[in-house]
Amino acid sequence: MALIVLEGMRFHAFHGVHPEEQVLGGEYVVNVEIQTGIAAAAKTDDIASTPVNYETVFQICMAEMAEPKKLLETVVTNIIHRLKRQFSQMKSVKVQVRKLYPPIHAKMGPLQQGRFQPISGRVEAAWVQDDASFVSNCPRCKASFLCYTDDTCWCKEIQNIHPATQETLKRQFGSTCLCQNCLKLYAG
Ligand SMILES: [Zn+2]
Ligand SMILES: [Zn+2]
Repeated sequence: MALIVLEGMRFHAFHGVHPEEQVLGGEYVVNVEIQTGIAAAAKTDDIASTPVNYETVFQICMAEMAEPKKLLETVVTNIIHRLKRQFSQMKSVKVQVRKLYPPIHAKMGPLQQGRFQPISGRVEAAWVQDDASFVSNCPRCKASFLCYTDDTCWCKEIQNIHPATQETLKRQFGSTCLCQNCLKLYAG
């Protein structure tokens, strides 16, 4: 199992609910960790055989960071969704978006006034992280394989399964895909 990591991608972006965040923007750091197999790429030393190209990962993060959102949760989720669309062989993915020195608009209650003073409400970072693992066991043959469990999954490309057969499979095996071998039995 190999990790492909992009650490400390820095962006000036405009996420947030406060007007100053949307107008002036702020500094963000994005970290991405992807588990995947690298044997083929290592053997050929060819960029074309890498399942995850980290320049593409950077471009995906940049595209999502350029899109102002109120919540970091939205940004993280959108980055993960795009990564799933782009790369079909991720075993797992972890994305963290850090907002540096976020403005905190907290009011002080009467008990907090007097000697106690927060140091200008300064917070080093607010961050949101999410991760997902895509290794799953085929509900039919129990072999382990990768399933993204949504519209980004490779199996959605398989067009030649009759809708009625798809319904039967769903009833029998739930929302998890079957592995490629088992799915082939129902295709065509
Ligand atoms: Zn199977
Ligand atoms: Zn699937």
